[in-house]
This record gives sequence, structure tokens and C-alpha cells, in this order.
Amino acid sequence: MKILVLNSGSSSIKFQMLDMATKETLIKGLVERIGLEESLISWKSGGEKYKKTMHFPGHKEGLAAVLDILKDRDHGVISDFNEIDAVGHRYVHGGEIYKDSAVVTEEDIAALEGLNHLAPLHNPHNLVGVRAMLELIPRVPNVIVFDTSFHSRMPEKAYMFALPYELYEKYGIRRYGFHGTSHHYVALEAASMINKPFEKSKIITCHMGNGTSFSAVQNGHSVDTSLGFSTMCGIPMGTRAGDFDPGILTHLLNTGDFTSDDLHDLIYKKSGMLGVSGISSDMRDIEQKAWNEKDKRAQLALDLVHYHAKKYIGAYLSVMNGADALVFTAGIGENGWETREEICSDMEFLGIQIDREKNKVRGKRVDISAPGSRVKVLVIPTNEELMIAEETLSLTQNR
Ligand code: AMP
Repeated sequence: MKILVLNSGSSSIKFQMLDMATKETLIKGLVERIGLEESLISWKSGGEKYKKTMHFPGHKEGLAAVLDILKDRDHGVISDFNEIDAVGHRYVHGGEIYKDSAVVTEEDIAALEGLNHLAPLHNPHNLVGVRAMLELIPRVPNVIVFDTSFHSRMPEKAYMFALPYELYEKYGIRRYGFHGTSHHYVALEAASMINKPFEKSKIITCHMGNGTSFSAVQNGHSVDTSLGFSTMCGIPMGTRAGDFDPGILTHLLNTGDFTSDDLHDLIYKKSGMLGVSGISSDMRDIEQKAWNEKDKRAQLALDLVHYHAKKYIGAYLSVMNGADALVFTAGIGENGWETREEICSDMEFLGIQIDREKNKVRGKRVDISAPGSRVKVLVIPTNEELMIAEETLSLTQNR
């Protein structure tokens, strides 16, 4: 079974084809600068890297080029499009409609259009990718795998905000959560690493990258998560503030110095580690300044990330009455052992103790718990593409 996984963004498309018999990636690549004069397609297959400059006026042309490459006589991985068993699309927002992944039908297209307003920067591009594949290879089934669906079974008390109830009814204001595919993947892997059935486990998943979210995963699904209606709240991120008092927004608006667009940019693009440090949104830059140059604001940015991360772990331990495992994943979670050490320090009372030497790894799957730690602390590199491919396979293989 060969599954093509697509992640269509505003001007780029990530693609990857997996052989599900071996779970091996056959080819992966990136279409960039869609709509510009010089677009770019780059890919890796058979251990070699390739690159081509072309012109893609839209996503459809970019995807047509991807299909050509898959079938290329010299470095392709299929000889006929019939060999593509299904296409799995990363789809950001499923609203309250999609609690699970789905095989795309005509009715879905209309339903998906109705969700664009919930994630205007992502969903419309995801939909363009789906539409393009339906046109280019109409006989191949398309599956949509949502970032929100793993969180779709959160209890009402976790997903509702204490705002007037009409806002939920009229505008769909509630916590949806994101990074669901990553949380799902690492939680499943964690359960298998600690030899517990996923359906009977309690796992805290810490997805820490440019965007960060933590989840409390109990009995096989997310029961709470730190991102909310938008991708802004929770733990401070590269450029996003995370939790702060929303009264600040109305206060700033009332000064007359800011428009609502200014405030949007402020909390999404100018805050987080970038805003506090004034240096960069990238963890490595901040660490370098804080440690090598003793820069106070860089250190404060790190302190804020560590402190909020600790608070969320404490909250989720209380929500689930303990945890079997705590998992770190994504760019910072997988590579930043210093971040893991800071977050997990002084947590003995809560059953979390790491082995500082074992923890000194980057990008590897490893159990970093100290002997006797009641909560197993694990590093698990995320693999959203594999998770999307697995979901796609399970929905299409017996059709
Ligand atoms: P992602 O969005 O998952 O690609 O993660 C990006 C973040 O991971 C950036 O803030 C990077 O600085 C961070 N990151 C990548 N490698 C390392 C590393 N070796 N140490 C600390 N942070 C890292």
C-alpha cells in the first residue's frame, strides 16, 4: 500500500509518499513559492536530493508537478497513478463537525468550506489541495486528517470558556485544540514504550516547537489541551504570547494607539520568545544569548517558557489524578535537552524525576526517567506524516 501525504499551505506544499508495508518513506519533498514567477520543487528519494525551478501559478500546477515526479522514469517511485492507494491530507480545523478523519465526498467539500472562517490562514489552502487532487487523480480516494479531531472528545468543562454561552452557539467560540495528530502519535508510541494499553493510560504530551501545545491524554483521547479557539494561548511560543490577561487587549485598544489588526500582530507575531527577548523566535538563538552572553531578557524568555510548561504539567497531573508518562516532542521537545531538564527539575513531589545523563540526547526516542520516577519521562520524535498515512490507510484499505 502506497499512501501520499500532503500538507498544503498558503504558498507551499509538503509531500511524502510512504510504503505502508514497511512504513518507509519512499520520497518526500516541498513545493515552494507557489504563485511567484520562480517556484521551486525539491525532493529526496533513494538517498539523493533533487531540486527544480519551475512556475506554478497555483496549487494544482504544483501538485501536478509532484505527481510527475512520483512517476518520473529516473527517480520516481511509481510507474502508474493507480499505485497510489490513497492521499492523506493534513487538515488544520475540523470544527465540531469532524470528530474523526474522513474519506472526502462531495458533501464534505461544502462542509469544509463552511469551516474556513475558523482557521482562515490554513483551512482554505488545505481545501485547495484536496480539490486539486480530486481533479488530478479522481479515482484515488482522499482522506482528511484534522489537527483538531484528537481533541474532539474533550469534556465540555475543558472545552468551554466561561464566556456568555451565546458566543458558543452563535460563533462557535470554544477550545478546539491543535497539533492533534502529533499528540495522538506520541501518546500511542508512549503507551507502547511503557507497555500499557493506550485505552487505559494517562499521558501528558508536550509538543514544543515553533508552536507549542500540551495535552492531557486519558484512556486513548485528549481530555484537555493548552491551545484553544485559536493557536495563541497556553505556553509562550516563538512569536505567540500564550496565556495572558485578555483585559490587556481591551485596555490597549482603548488607548487609541492600536487597531485590532495591530493587536492581532502583537499577540501572534511579536510576542512569545521574540517579544520578550527582542532577539529571535528561535530557541537556539535565545539559548545562545542567555547562556553565552548572559542576556537578561533572553533568560527571561526561557524562564517564561519553562515556568508555564511546569504549570501546565501540574494542571494536567491534577486533571488526570497522575500520569503514567510525560512525553516531549517537536523541535524543542525532541532536541532541547536543556529545556527538558529545566521543566522537569523540582518535580519529585509530582512523581517526575529524570536521569540528567540519559536526558542529554537530541532527536532520539529515549526513556529519560530516573530509576524510581513514578511518571516515565520519554522523548519521542513526532511523525505526523506517518500518523496521517496510518489513518488514511485504515479508512481506505477495506473499501
Ligand atoms: P519545530 O516547529 O518543531 O520545527 O521546532 C522549531 C523550534 O525547535 C525552534 O525554536 C528551534 O530553535 C528548536 N530547536 C531545534 N533544534 C534545537 C536544539 N538542538 N536545541 C534547542 N532547540 C532546538
